[in-house]
Amino acid sequence: MPSRSQRPPGDRKARALAVQLLARNQPLLRGALVEMARTCGKEGCRCQQGHKHVSLYLATRHEGKRSLIYIPKALAPRVREAVQATQQLEAWIDDLAAEELQLLLQDKQQGARGKARDAPPQRATRTPRH
Ligand SMILES: [Zn+2]
Repeated sequence: MPSRSQRPPGDRKARALAVQLLARNQPLLRGALVEMARTCGKEGCRCQQGHKHVSLYLATRHEGKRSLIYIPKALAPRVREAVQATQQLEAWIDDLAAEELQLLLQDKQQGARGKARDAPPQRATRTPRH
């Protein structure tokens, strides 16, 4: 079984960056930012001439339901950062999981060529979720 130091460099880098991000208490928000342009209906407003009002929304799940949450301009930078940080973290987790799967498949193959050849397949057991 490969030790941690034999893991691919990308793996160690992703892990270190993810830890850094979490360690500095980076706010995290899951969802997608959506900009919507609309007209307000006020007579003579510039939105009537095509300069629509652009508002930012966070498309996310809230209390188990999909929701679109209006984000006031003043809060937009904070929300953008939190959404981007979550996407980055998820990308790193995807990379780490993909690399671990690669290692698992390699180890499994090496095991099959080695002494484990005659061993019966291990019965699949589910570990309890925590
Ligand atoms: Zn308007």
